[in-house]
Amino acid sequence: TVRTRFAPSPTGYLHIGGARTALFSWAYARHHGGAFILRIEDTDRERSTPEAVQAILDGMHWLQLDYDEGPYYQTQRMERYREVIAQMLAAGTAYYCYMSPEELEALREAQRARGEKPRYDRRWRPEPGKTLPPPPPGVRPVVRFKNPLTGTVAWDDLVKGRIEFANEELDDFIIARADGTPTYNFCVVVDDWDMRITHVIRGDDHVNNTPRQINLYLALGVPLPQFAHLPMILGPDGQKLSKRHGAVSVMQYHEDGYLPEAVINYLARLGWSHGDDEIFTREQFVAWFDLKDVNPSPARFDFDKLRWLNAHYIKQAEVRRLAADCAERLARRGVAVTDTAVLEPVVALYQDRVQTLEELADCAEPFVIEVHPSPELREKHLDEEARRALAELRRRLESIPEEEWRRERLAAAIKETLAAAGVKMPKLGIPLRVVLLGVPQSPALEAVLEVLGRERTLARLAAHAL
Ligand code: GLU
Repeated sequence: TVRTRFAPSPTGYLHIGGARTALFSWAYARHHGGAFILRIEDTDRERSTPEAVQAILDGMHWLQLDYDEGPYYQTQRMERYREVIAQMLAAGTAYYCYMSPEELEALREAQRARGEKPRYDRRWRPEPGKTLPPPPPGVRPVVRFKNPLTGTVAWDDLVKGRIEFANEELDDFIIARADGTPTYNFCVVVDDWDMRITHVIRGDDHVNNTPRQINLYLALGVPLPQFAHLPMILGPDGQKLSKRHGAVSVMQYHEDGYLPEAVINYLARLGWSHGDDEIFTREQFVAWFDLKDVNPSPARFDFDKLRWLNAHYIKQAEVRRLAADCAERLARRGVAVTDTAVLEPVVALYQDRVQTLEELADCAEPFVIEVHPSPELREKHLDEEARRALAELRRRLESIPEEEWRRERLAAAIKETLAAAGVKMPKLGIPLRVVLLGVPQSPALEAVLEVLGRERTLARLAAHAL
């Protein structure tokens, strides 16, 4: 059965690229009815923080990328790494190297001066017929992998096709540092082996690690997984996606008012396609997903398209859910709404008109707080004529009893007001919006009046339209 994993290093937040990798890995497992595993690669203790681990878990949870196993933590597997290193030393597929960092630097310096590529010269590599010097006293050795000297290492990448490296170009890389801690390329192999990963799906920044890892698999005599390297994500300008372009943290999108289904739909299309389909559910994505449809060239992040998708999903979303979200966003602004049902008609009024949930909260806020139209807006829109029209409207609205405070009735009152005051719609509509909501635009007036309710409408007219 298929077993995939997502193996982030917890050194910051879950970023867009990581989330896309996780999504594709997850979808591949789900498509094949396999297992998806989360592994936290936290061996870099200086850069790994508990907050970053939490940020990854939060991001996965928000996107509903559920995992069947894990999270495993590499820091909890040190015993196992030591064990495999000891086995490799015993088998002669790895060896101690006593070269000090200073010696190594001097060697590199000399190589660079000769115009050569700096690399370890294999001086401590045991070979038949080669006599090694006695280990220098007091030096703690590193452990190096005995990489093959000749031949090639190749794999059929499920996204990029065949990739080959000459072994000559690969160093005898370090698998354990002088302090005994294992290195990245080594841990990944032991983990993927132990966790019986069948498909390693990851960013193509790892393509150069893969030949080293394959050689390790071969030396350990364990079966190779398949590899799929996902192309980079670029910003709209074709440069590597970064903060300059916009938010790159997944949870930032949550904060900015994106729905997880919009983000999932968007990420799914980042480098993968299914005909011309742009909008699809998570279930459809799982049903359709195949690595062979991943585009091997880099994908460009399109912020406008994400907003467009988000608007689509907000339109489709259940009013109750949006109202609950809206209440949370308002609470964060210090506006407490105890009964979220109050927000439902407001949300229904605006959900077709916004691109983010933050915008939705912006629209809803004036319905639940005291509104104070700015002096600029009052100056601009509340002239003599507007006030007269508003006074006219107010008289008519006051005569409508609470139980008849309905759209049709309100629309009629507005129409009569226009005729009686001899003004055109904008002359009444814009000042009315400013007075009621503090902003000059809104959905249809009768709908706003209905949702705002009789009491608040009349109070605001009395307070701001005189
Ligand atoms: N921990 C690595 C990273 O965050 C991923 C390793 C892998 O997927 O093999 O880039």
